[in-house]
Amino acid sequence: MTASTPVVPRGIASPSKFIIGPGLLAQLPDVVKDFGTNAIIICDPFILPHVERESLPALAKAGLKGSVEKFNGECCDSEIKRLSALAKERGANVVVGVGGGKTLDTSKAVSHALKHPLVLYPTIASSDAPCIALAVVYTDEGAFSHYLHLPQNPSAVMADTSVIAGAPARFFSAGIGDALATYFEAQACYDSDGTNLLGKKPSRTGLGMARLCYDILRDNVDSAMDAISRNVVTDAVTTTVEATIYLSGVGSESGGLAAAHAIHDGMTVVEDIHHAQHGEKVIFGLMCQFVLANTPRETVDEVVRIALRAGLPLTLQQLGLKKFVPAEWRKVAELACSPDDTMGNMPMKITPDDVYNAIVTANVMGERHMAAAGKAVPKLD
Ligand SMILES: [Zn+2]
Repeated sequence: MTASTPVVPRGIASPSKFIIGPGLLAQLPDVVKDFGTNAIIICDPFILPHVERESLPALAKAGLKGSVEKFNGECCDSEIKRLSALAKERGANVVVGVGGGKTLDTSKAVSHALKHPLVLYPTIASSDAPCIALAVVYTDEGAFSHYLHLPQNPSAVMADTSVIAGAPARFFSAGIGDALATYFEAQACYDSDGTNLLGKKPSRTGLGMARLCYDILRDNVDSAMDAISRNVVTDAVTTTVEATIYLSGVGSESGGLAAAHAIHDGMTVVEDIHHAQHGEKVIFGLMCQFVLANTPRETVDEVVRIALRAGLPLTLQQLGLKKFVPAEWRKVAELACSPDDTMGNMPMKITPDDVYNAIVTANVMGERHMAAAGKAVPKLD
């Protein structure tokens, strides 16, 4: 063997276990027992009484210790420190997070600080973040602070379909928006021999999971949205959640991201659209990626059909934009092309000018599809 530059290997990452079904709060001990004997359960306030009523007695019955602590609302260093100290004080050896994105990210950070296994229980299916080894940390005031890259994925993710279906439909839709982009980004990353979220070459497994994720969304969206509109669980709902939380997470982490998420990241500087969900912005980013890659019309039409059926927005004005200020969107385009982001995983060279033109075009395309679906949106200035 001669000394040469080491080859970047392919990589695959995933939670050790993914459990999906209704009524999982009472089944918490079945999962916790594999990772520890004393759980600190970090909880969103709305679900805390249910955890006290269902999970704590079940843990006690199984001979395990458990205690609940209310999450204070922000994933910031002071909250991470507070909960880490509390976990130590209580002798916890496994961290459980029950709630929305910030609760789960805080639980990821606490488990990382204490080097304890982590069990996550998302109460909404609005993105694929629960399965990914990454947390977003904010300042005490709620501004973005930094990404926390974790050495490990959660030990287990429990998707309780009865709780997820009971949440407002907009969250379920946003999860579909995030997951719709996964296959197209993974394919772009694979074609360009790019870098996945592990910093490795994209794996065939990641691409395959991303494809399965897309096929499931295409085949189940109609029936799943019918059920979700009445907050009930059906097989189509369960299968869709498997795609939006698990397959999309593993597909994007092991397969890699590309233009759709890079444009999403750039869009975070636009004040007007701060209240849009992650997945609602990602679907717009995906439409821009289609423009950049000049994706065949049949493919675009199929994705648009799924997005419309999921009730997703396709235009910037639906995301909350009041006025299109070109300088602001030039900045978005520039940020999307930053070398730290994932635009470099596109198979062709993309410049900020290309991205700006794609944003303008994607919005007209969105207006056209909305009008064709009988949902006319006002034109932007
Ligand atoms: Zn995403």
